[in-house]
Amino acid sequence: MRVILASPRGFCAGVVRAIEIVERALERYGAPVYVRHEIVHNRHVVEKLRRKGAVFVDHLSDVPAGAQTVFSAHGVARSVVDEATARGLPVLDATCPLVTKVHVQGRRYAKAGRTLVLIGHAGHAEVEGTMGQVDAPVHLVSTPADVALLPIDPATPVAYITQTTLSVDDTRVVIAALEDRFADVIGPSVAEICYATQNRQTAVRDLARVSDVLIVVGAGNSSNSSRLREIGDEMGVPSYLVDDGDGVDPAWIAGAGAVGITAGASAPDELVDSVIAALARVRPVEVSQLDGVVETMSFSLPPELRRPAVTAAAA
Ligand code: SF4
Repeated sequence: MRVILASPRGFCAGVVRAIEIVERALERYGAPVYVRHEIVHNRHVVEKLRRKGAVFVDHLSDVPAGAQTVFSAHGVARSVVDEATARGLPVLDATCPLVTKVHVQGRRYAKAGRTLVLIGHAGHAEVEGTMGQVDAPVHLVSTPADVALLPIDPATPVAYITQTTLSVDDTRVVIAALEDRFADVIGPSVAEICYATQNRQTAVRDLARVSDVLIVVGAGNSSNSSRLREIGDEMGVPSYLVDDGDGVDPAWIAGAGAVGITAGASAPDELVDSVIAALARVRPVEVSQLDGVVETMSFSLPPELRRPAVTAAAA
């Protein structure tokens, strides 16, 4: 059985940065370091950091006074930043710079007097953070049907911003619905949605074309991983989302000549290896990788982690 890997797949620059922030914080300040929300949506990543001394909490009220705190890659609402400031908590912000860019866009549009629409999925940590970063009402839509129901006069100047991990195609359709309904609507082009989201979606499309079955490695609560599985399904390829090799059902690959594997932006490559190993336990496999975009993006760390640590001797 051929096993074909998508390229690119797995970790994006925002996830690499977020994990490095927690690891460096643990090295520099010692355990425990308190992380608000899962640093990225992947159980294996979270467990690994937990073993090193990270403590994951849902609310800042669970962080003890003075404890080193990290905000997750998904970003937080302004009220969370304000609460941390009011409590004097030392904070490292692991919000992905591309999510921060959306926050800035949203504030700029609202300041210009436009009614703001966020294209995204209710309940996702990034969406909650983005809605709470803009000091004005934000209308959340995820489908053209939602656009039709917006309680906004069609003559109102509107601007949209987007969650970074959406399906590029679905987003295009929602933007078209906004442009149909409102005379004056502006927003970033779909090409500006996160590079990693776009690259992984393009790669999974290429992969689905040559696969009989598609396996996406990623967490159930990972938005970008779920979108990759949906794209496979939309292309008529049976597609499954698994945490790791333990999630593989041998029945999925019965009779398959080629199994495609990709991974969401928060899934480490070792989990892809565990899926390959699980497949190889069922049938002999021959592994290859498709050609794809070579990613060179990287994001710098917060300044306090870039500076060399001050040792007792130096101080
Ligand atoms: Fe940032 Fe994109 Fe990765 Fe999300 S998927 S963390 S927006 S680089």
